[in-house]
Amino acid sequence: TKWVYSFGDGKAEGKSEMRNLLGGKGANLAEMANLGLPVPPGFTITTEVCTYYYAHGETYPAELKGDVEAALAKVGALTGKTFGDPANPLLVSVRSGARASMPGMMDTVLNLGLNDETVEAVAKLANDRRFAYDSYRRFITMYSDVVLGVDHHHFEEILEGYKSQHGHTLDTDLDADDWAKLVVEYKAKVEKELGKPFPQNPQDQLWGAIGAVFGSWMNQRAITYRRLHSIPESWGTAVNVQAMVFGNMGETSATGVAFTRNPSTGENALYGEFLVNAQGEDVVAGIRTPQDLTERARIAAGSDKPSMESALPDAFKEFERISHVLEKHYRDMQDLEFTVEKGKLWMLQTRSGKRTAKASLRIAVELANEGLITQEEAVARVDPASLDQLLHPAIDPKAERNVIATGLPASPGAAAGAIVFSADEAETMKHQGHKVILVRIETSPEDIHGMHAAEGILTSRGGMTSHAAVVARGMGKPCVSGAGSLRIDYAAQTLTVAGKTYKKGETLTIDGSTGQVLAGEVPMQQPELSGEFATLMGWADKVRRLKIRANAETPLDARMARSFGAEGIGLSRTEHMFFDAGRILAVREMILADDEAGRRSALAKLLPMQREDFVELFEIMKGLPVTIRLLDPPLHEFLPHTDAEVQEVAKSLGVEVERIERRQKELHEVNPMLGFRGCRIAIAFPEIAEMQARAIFEAAVIAAKKTGEAVVPEVMVPLIATKAEFDIVNARIQAVAKAVEEETGAKLTFQVGTMIELPRAALRAKEIAETAEFFSFGTNDLTQTCYGVSRDDAGTFLGPYVQKGIIEVDPFVSIDVEGVGELVKIGVERGRQSRPDIKLGICGEHGGDPASVAFCDEVGLDYVSCSPFRVPIARLAAAQAAL
Ligand code: PEP
Ligand code: MG
Repeated sequence: TKWVYSFGDGKAEGKSEMRNLLGGKGANLAEMANLGLPVPPGFTITTEVCTYYYAHGETYPAELKGDVEAALAKVGALTGKTFGDPANPLLVSVRSGARASMPGMMDTVLNLGLNDETVEAVAKLANDRRFAYDSYRRFITMYSDVVLGVDHHHFEEILEGYKSQHGHTLDTDLDADDWAKLVVEYKAKVEKELGKPFPQNPQDQLWGAIGAVFGSWMNQRAITYRRLHSIPESWGTAVNVQAMVFGNMGETSATGVAFTRNPSTGENALYGEFLVNAQGEDVVAGIRTPQDLTERARIAAGSDKPSMESALPDAFKEFERISHVLEKHYRDMQDLEFTVEKGKLWMLQTRSGKRTAKASLRIAVELANEGLITQEEAVARVDPASLDQLLHPAIDPKAERNVIATGLPASPGAAAGAIVFSADEAETMKHQGHKVILVRIETSPEDIHGMHAAEGILTSRGGMTSHAAVVARGMGKPCVSGAGSLRIDYAAQTLTVAGKTYKKGETLTIDGSTGQVLAGEVPMQQPELSGEFATLMGWADKVRRLKIRANAETPLDARMARSFGAEGIGLSRTEHMFFDAGRILAVREMILADDEAGRRSALAKLLPMQREDFVELFEIMKGLPVTIRLLDPPLHEFLPHTDAEVQEVAKSLGVEVERIERRQKELHEVNPMLGFRGCRIAIAFPEIAEMQARAIFEAAVIAAKKTGEAVVPEVMVPLIATKAEFDIVNARIQAVAKAVEEETGAKLTFQVGTMIELPRAALRAKEIAETAEFFSFGTNDLTQTCYGVSRDDAGTFLGPYVQKGIIEVDPFVSIDVEGVGELVKIGVERGRQSRPDIKLGICGEHGGDPASVAFCDEVGLDYVSCSPFRVPIARLAAAQAAL
């Protein structure tokens, strides 16, 4: 086995494709050497050595020692120096380098090879004693910290003490003798801490550092990081040993970091920082303020410190040239590290740079426009989930966050406002011109008007598909749900958390992208949709197979959905229309009625209103498919809850309070989600379904006349478990259609289909599809019933499940492919057995989750339907699934 790969002098044994073996850093160092770029010579000890090390009781392969010696000799030959030579010593850096960049592991040791003897040789050769001792003290600090486990703060204390004792303020005030004295103190400190002296033998130093890199692969921080990012332990890390080049050799030396394009805006302009007369860690440590690379950036920042462009013009020009070479070669924005030693530029690292969502979009589109990548590659490069950041206001990354509680990130975006504890209060305050955050233990359909009025919603109970979460996402409003540490007292109008009480009217900020609740009003950034966004969406649309629809019922949502590119409505939840101020009274009258006649008279009042709703929806959607679902939730949700409300309703309806209370008791259920809801209502009270069907068909006739476009409504029956249920409701709908045709003389085209949201429906899909013309998988209820987990209460126990690794992701966020997904697959297969061309979609919240969209593409659904704000995410995810 080859354990060691050399590079330098315009060639290398490795290359960038060997990332698994050489780690990211090692593979790219080799690649840069092959490209003829100035890379200090060195070698990479492979990740296989790491694997061997752990498989063999933390020992190395027998050949490794000889291989490393040979590689070191090669580096020596290229630099004209010898490792450990007291007269002409080679100094090296030792760095870790896993396949994926991994914080938590041993990072870097510089200047290795220095000791009491070689430091004098370095001083003589460089003709700079201060430089030599400055390097030596840096080496002792770093090596002691990361290899020997003597924390760096010990050395910082000694340094600070020394400086104040001698009246120095800056490190640059110290001369060679100062550093030499500090080196003595540092070594004494190490000996005191460890009971043995700082290692003087360069070979011991080297193997100590190599061992520390491999050892850090299994330290707690690295293990935790790997678990959080699903990085297998078996990958291992590589070790890179490289000849030192020095950025701390005076005013013509420097060190810096750069991005080939701006990582926060994506602008195509070199962006970075450097420090004159410094070594790598000074830039990161923030002890000195770095300077801008380019004149342009310096002027923009209003800085009076010279840029690299003006201070080191030749090195800068060379660096600029190389940054173009690397970007072209890797076909992506690069994150670079470099050092200038006495005017000569050296490249120390290149890798694809991390970037914001905004930058990611702009860079992908511009790289494609520049011809460096294809449009498909551009589509593949943008993370669909990151689009959320672009569509909603976000907390200013520079803002201070005083987090008082954390719940679920139920609906993205940030919002600030005065807290209020009821929907009515939210509406009133909004009318008075205030911005409010609606705070509830949980929300119910009767809070919709308050949710509309609020900037954001905060609940202490409920999961990712709780009412608050679903409705907020639909409205595109930020929501934090299930923040369990909040104590909400409606009577006192207060919210208490961590011993502090917030009264009504006090300001809080919620971040629905992270689930954080923050004290006060935190500064925000408003979203702006760039031209690149539209361009990339257009490219995505060219490659995707899945159609994208939206879940929407209000005209506002429907228009929003259209503007985001929805190709129809996949779910219109009609119950949301029942809560409008103008009609809730008629709905309640209908529910309170003692008999069918009473219900019919109340329904007659509702009919024209529902018809208007649908006419408007059809008009907005201009001939695109619209799926309308019959009433789904349990009826008691529509009744008033508090005593005051009950009294008010009793008065306006002219009925006894007792009557309402009696009906409340009759309708009360222990498990409403498994209770009297869905098609069960349509079967018990067919007149409700008939009214809705009539409203739909009459609206279709009116809208078709108005727009001149054919309207083909899809009527959807919720919560079907058996074919018999579907057939009963379907028969009523068909009868209404016939009646409307006769009355209007118009010919109707429509489909009647069903939600598949109960396991039994999925299993019996074959017979259900004999009469149902389409299926829409309701994966919210399907997850709830497949898992036996209440979607409204899941927050409290699924959170810990995810943290403990019992489940990987919340199944209400991303479809559980193995369980719920299996039911969907069965539903698809069996449905097609009796109706091969059956139209298949999904309308659960998963329709806007990229991983779930990929699953829907794979099982061959025709469309996904999601909240309007998620439509762009779904379009991009569907395109990536098709690539
Ligand atoms: C579902 O159950 O997935 C669904 C879309 O319906 P709802 O969320 O309204 O129950
Ligand atoms: Mg459902």
